[in-house]
Amino acid sequence: MRDIGGGPRVLLKRLREFTAAALEPQERLDRIVREIARNMVAEVCSLYVLRADSMLELYATEGLNPGSVHLAQLRLGQGLVGTIAASARPLNLTDAQHHPAFAYLPETGEEIYHSFLGVPVLRAGRTLGVLVVQNKTMRTYQDDEIEALETTAMVIAEMIATGDLARLSRPGIELDLGRPVSFDGLALSDGVGLGHVVLHEPRVVVKDLFAEDGEAESARLNEALGSLRLSIDDMLSRRDVAFEGEHRAVLEAYRMFANDRGWVRRIEEAISNGLTAEAAVEKVQSDMRARMMHMTDPYLRERMSDFDDLGNRLLRQLMGRGPETLAETLPKDSIIVARSMGAAELLDYPRNRLRGLVLEDGAPTSHVVIVARAIGIAVAGQAKGAVSMSENGDAIIIDGDDGQVHLRPAPDVEAAYAEKARFRARKQQLYRELREKPSVSADGVKVDLMMNAGLAVDLPQLADSGAAGIGLFRTELQFMVAARFPRAEEQEQLYREVLQAAGDRPVTFRTIDIGGDKVLPYFKEAVHEENPALGWRAIRLTLDKPTLLRTQIRALLRAAGGRELRIMLPMVTEISEIRKTRAIIDREVQHLSRFAHLLPTRIKLGAMIEVPSLLWQLNELMRAVDFVSVGSNDLFQFVTASDRGNTRLSSRFNPLSVPFLRVLKQIADAGFANDTPVTLCGELAGRPLSAMALFGVGYRSISMAPAAIGPVKAMLRELPVGALVDHMKKAMNGMGAEDDMAAMLIKFAADHGIELDQ
Ligand code: PEP
Ligand code: MG
Repeated sequence: MRDIGGGPRVLLKRLREFTAAALEPQERLDRIVREIARNMVAEVCSLYVLRADSMLELYATEGLNPGSVHLAQLRLGQGLVGTIAASARPLNLTDAQHHPAFAYLPETGEEIYHSFLGVPVLRAGRTLGVLVVQNKTMRTYQDDEIEALETTAMVIAEMIATGDLARLSRPGIELDLGRPVSFDGLALSDGVGLGHVVLHEPRVVVKDLFAEDGEAESARLNEALGSLRLSIDDMLSRRDVAFEGEHRAVLEAYRMFANDRGWVRRIEEAISNGLTAEAAVEKVQSDMRARMMHMTDPYLRERMSDFDDLGNRLLRQLMGRGPETLAETLPKDSIIVARSMGAAELLDYPRNRLRGLVLEDGAPTSHVVIVARAIGIAVAGQAKGAVSMSENGDAIIIDGDDGQVHLRPAPDVEAAYAEKARFRARKQQLYRELREKPSVSADGVKVDLMMNAGLAVDLPQLADSGAAGIGLFRTELQFMVAARFPRAEEQEQLYREVLQAAGDRPVTFRTIDIGGDKVLPYFKEAVHEENPALGWRAIRLTLDKPTLLRTQIRALLRAAGGRELRIMLPMVTEISEIRKTRAIIDREVQHLSRFAHLLPTRIKLGAMIEVPSLLWQLNELMRAVDFVSVGSNDLFQFVTASDRGNTRLSSRFNPLSVPFLRVLKQIADAGFANDTPVTLCGELAGRPLSAMALFGVGYRSISMAPAAIGPVKAMLRELPVGALVDHMKKAMNGMGAEDDMAAMLIKFAADHGIELDQ
């Protein structure tokens, strides 16, 4: 860069003086643009700021008509300035007026200028404005001049972010930074939360932007890069299985990036322009983020976000901060916003301060989502861009029922959700009042309403929900949230805790149901399968890996010493699987009694009905077990041959259709005929309408998510079960297989004054 104006170092030094001086914001801006123009030997320097209405308003200028400040404006995408803002990329033009995007604003008097250099004002990858220099002569700006202008833009971004410039806008006009943003995410865990943003990986706020001694900054950068590389190597060399598989691949990519010359060179360039090492990292990171937002290739986006994570780690190294510790100052209504998160990390947050979780990734089966559901907080996933759009402390609303997230909501949106939250709270209060009331229908039929669980964090819900027991304890969840196979003692410890919490209420432990969509990253022998739902999973897998099953059974037997133990087998396809498991249990019992262990007083073995093959051997099955439980999620997916996780099919087939209800009734009837207790523990149990259908076809025990017990109990206590059974029998005989029972059930409920809370 030509040094007539003093070069970028001098410019940054002057800017530092302006930002530190006690000046009115407009005065500060005016001085800044004047200084940039002087330093870059440009006749014009202008700053445009992006408003919430997507207009770029001229906020300060040196060289253009001063009367046009706060009046001249361009739409996002309009003209050169609008193009820069929309693309988040600089434009460097020798003859701007011949550029197809050039838009002439008569009020500014810019027709006499030819060369044009504009850069986006970026913060955390968001475009907040555009900074422009112009010259009368046709000249080409050099790379170091672009770099210097971009660096200056960072200083301005900071001023906008701190709200310094908001006061300059006319009344009623808001800057883009404070704009309400909504995300149409994926509903992952029910609930409505109103609160404030807590960024899971808080952006490290770089306070010191300018440095006097470039060499010292370079040395700091190199040292931090060295430590970063070492820490990645260290993680990679640990024999901890947590870093196998996918995790290892990510770390290896990080190691490659940490040695990426282009990345490091760009940071060094920014340092040579007078930035501190951390400000230089942030600048490069911000450019990357902005580019990432305009990228459609999912693979490249993913790689870019790896760079982003790496940038954060490097910033922490430079600023001497380890991983964030949880501040006691966490707001009482925290809504965590994260790109992705491990299950254990969520549990590190004080639960009583959490109102929700917003994830940029996140799938229904991800571990963190399973845990969030267990602790009862709303979750929305796939909210792309939520992290970079949010600032700590921003107001935010999450609706886990439909996946909507509203960041910095408008007052009317906030009022509507506050009403929804109040309504839910009133309902919850009603359900709490029902907790101690018996689960009996209006005509005196007793039904067991049990809850599903799988982690220690679920246990307080036993008391909170008033469940009659745990109808399904998904033991695989302990395996899924762990980084390696839980040891026998860890399994035993969990089972003890569960039984202790249940007191004299029954608990049904399901043996590990892994495979299918429940993958353990550390389980090496699981290979890619064409049809995992139909593959090597659940009891099929554990019978082939008897050590796994034996260890679990031993842990269960030891934990249940002196009381009844109920064990349930998932995905049973034929009766021989039950026989084989019983033989393993018998052997373990013998083994333990040889060592004089206290054994369970009684062992009950049950099977889940999930695979349709069992439907044609129901009598034999009922005789081979002590109880059965219908896993309606899997049974429905196999009966209708429709993947339960495929959102395109999720509402295509109806479980309340006559054929599927016939299947469910057949099972209930067989249980009755064979005197074998029958339960149902799939999602159908947890919705009042489908629970009603279950009562109508003969189910007297169902198990569901704890939050569903209140609504189902409220429905049950109004329901004349006898009348419903007769009505459904008649209707199902008279209806064709095409008919949907849902409408009939809704009418029955309405005719009997039953409110169905869905
Ligand atoms: C089911 O399949 O209905 C069930 C309860 O088991 P899971 O959802 O754990 O597969
Ligand atoms: Mg299942």
